[in-house]
Amino acid sequence: MNQNIQREVSDAGIAILTFDRPDSTANIFDERTLDELNDHLDFLEAEKSLQGLIIQSAKSKIFIAGADLNTFGKEMSAARVAMAIERGQKTFDRIARLPYPSVATIHGAALGGGFEVALACDYRLASGDSATKVGLPETKLGILPAWGGLTRLPKLIGLPNALEAVMSGRQYSAEQALKRGMIDSIVPRKQLTAAAVRKIQQVEGKKRAPRTHLSNRPPLSKMIKAQAEKKGMARTHGHYPAPLKALEVAYASLNLPYEQSLENEKNRFIELALTETAQNLIGIFFLQERAKKLKLPKELGPAPAAPRQTVHRGLVIGAGVMGAGIAQWLSSRGIRVILKDIGPAPLGNGMRSIAKLYGEAVKRDLFSEVEARNGFDRILPIYEEVPLREVELVIEAAVEKLELKKQIFADLEPRVRSDVVLASNTSALSIDAIAESLQHPERVVGIHFFNPVHRMQLVEIVRGTKTDATTLNTAIAFVRQIGKLPVLVKDSPGFLVNRILLPYLVEAVRLFAAGYRIENIDRVMVDFGMPMGPLRLMDEVGLDVAEHVAKELESRLKHLGPLNDTLNKMIAKKWLGRKSGKGFYDYQSGREGKTNSELGDLQPAEPEIANEGDLRDRLVLSMINEAARTIEEKVVEVPEDADFAMIVGTGWAPFRGGPLRYSDHLGIATVVSRLNNLRDRVGTYFAPCQLLAEMANRGGSFYPERNPIPSAETEPQFEKGRHESDA
Ligand code: NAD
Repeated sequence: MNQNIQREVSDAGIAILTFDRPDSTANIFDERTLDELNDHLDFLEAEKSLQGLIIQSAKSKIFIAGADLNTFGKEMSAARVAMAIERGQKTFDRIARLPYPSVATIHGAALGGGFEVALACDYRLASGDSATKVGLPETKLGILPAWGGLTRLPKLIGLPNALEAVMSGRQYSAEQALKRGMIDSIVPRKQLTAAAVRKIQQVEGKKRAPRTHLSNRPPLSKMIKAQAEKKGMARTHGHYPAPLKALEVAYASLNLPYEQSLENEKNRFIELALTETAQNLIGIFFLQERAKKLKLPKELGPAPAAPRQTVHRGLVIGAGVMGAGIAQWLSSRGIRVILKDIGPAPLGNGMRSIAKLYGEAVKRDLFSEVEARNGFDRILPIYEEVPLREVELVIEAAVEKLELKKQIFADLEPRVRSDVVLASNTSALSIDAIAESLQHPERVVGIHFFNPVHRMQLVEIVRGTKTDATTLNTAIAFVRQIGKLPVLVKDSPGFLVNRILLPYLVEAVRLFAAGYRIENIDRVMVDFGMPMGPLRLMDEVGLDVAEHVAKELESRLKHLGPLNDTLNKMIAKKWLGRKSGKGFYDYQSGREGKTNSELGDLQPAEPEIANEGDLRDRLVLSMINEAARTIEEKVVEVPEDADFAMIVGTGWAPFRGGPLRYSDHLGIATVVSRLNNLRDRVGTYFAPCQLLAEMANRGGSFYPERNPIPSAETEPQFEKGRHESDA
């Protein structure tokens, strides 16, 4: 029985296949859907009277979101992968070879296999709606488009655009796709089918002639390839093989017979799919899907019936770095925001930075001028008391002082409606302490954003001991509403991400004070796969902010080891990092990116000679040990949470799968023996935590199965919120 794809044939002899996966908002290519498509193709090939084919989707936001990644996740073998690839290739080949023209009418996301099926058609028409996105994001998952995509795309749009699309894995709006030739025209959604019919009639049953591109021939093609290779190497630091393999296949396709190019796609795909890198990247994709469906912990019982539906009006307290960022993000998501601070000066600064954020977003084509203006106008800056009856959620982002936060919440509690959730964006204060003197501490929760808010997708939802299920559920629904990814954490020092990061940053400062060169410390971690080294990261965060969090955690986490006075001395000189023009690096013009040449006094005269392995161990194992502690102390429920949060919250080497996945890769016994060694040589603070020691003894690992897929119900889809990091 055909369930996923419906077929009809119009009086004019045009067949229409409508993808409409039951009980789902998405269409995907799983085995069953491919079976059905092949059944329909039997008919489409046999029926001689047909004039054309239209492929469309009945979903409101998705055309076809791609292949079912479950196929590649579990119990993978080369043979199984080969079968899955051949299956897709053959099916799409049948579409391409139909004797009459075919048109894909794209509304919603057409990604990966979803775009490859459209590429197998002669024409592609798309709606201009914001839900419409096309692209081949496979390389982001460590694999490559192997259902004909790498063979067809360069021929359709030319090598330069094709390489940009497959190597970046970028998703394009209809307009961007039209510019690049990935689609043929933009048509209002309601008129897509009629336009496709017209197209078929216009071309009078003829297939489309292949295109020619100058850039697909030597010497141009060779130059383009060399350029892309160089750019790809620089971008991936040699850690991500997929974009470069995709490049090879796309380039080779220009000179290979069609079948051989498909074979090439398949073979390179298999090589990639079986690597640990691809496994880790696909694993992260599933973790993102899991975060989108975050559920309450079991001990809270069944979820309360109706958490507050959508939040329309919010109150943000504090218009500083975080408050302004949060207000901007909420307003861009259609939420009306009252932005409260203590006077016109901080509010003016806050509104200026919000205007700047919107301005940059318009420049980057994320919003139109009108959307940006409307967003900006949704924010009402105030410093006097106003009625708060309409407020549906509060986020406090005032300065990090416990007494102040307690005062703010005590003032608020009687003034907002009794069902309003009171959230704090505190980095390091205890939610319990903030809620302590309130009448209803169960309404208080941490909603901890990361800086900069518009770029960082992760939000920690901090559960105080008294926070109730309704409050948590509302917080989760809210984070989802604004398109961020939540992780639920226990109220504990530094929560999750800062806690794991801090021992690493502190260790980097110790290494610096011991005489290691800044460049060496940072380079070791960039080579490891971090987006930037720890000292540069501290410059970005602000040395004063880092020092404040370090102090707070040092007093609450006794195992952290001593802080030295390096940061204090730098702060005293007003070297606060990028924002002050100097930190470990110099940001003043002319010296941009060079190390701060005046730091000499803070280091011994004789520099230490860097042993890279040792530096890496001291830095990486600091994080692993702390990540293991968050499991030991149940800050999070499962290792997946810690790994996911570190990757999304800090860019932690994604191809390594997160600190705990990486410790499995090293072997827990190795981790423990290296930590013991550091404990003896460097300092007792390196002593492995109890959980690690105990796991090493019994030969345990954080992930007993090599590639557990967190939830069987996961619906693979690439769709993401409108987010800068997509661009
Ligand atoms: P900030 O100093 O930039 O801004 C704080 C703002 O709060 C200032 O504009 C100040 O005038 C205002 N304020 C002070 N008292 C107030 C009151 N009674 N009512 C209203 N406003 C008041 O600080 P920030 O960096 O934006 O941090 C704000 C909060 O977010 C802190 O709790 C911090 O720990 C947390 N946080 C910061 C970061 C970060 O990287 N900066 C990241 C995550 C969380």
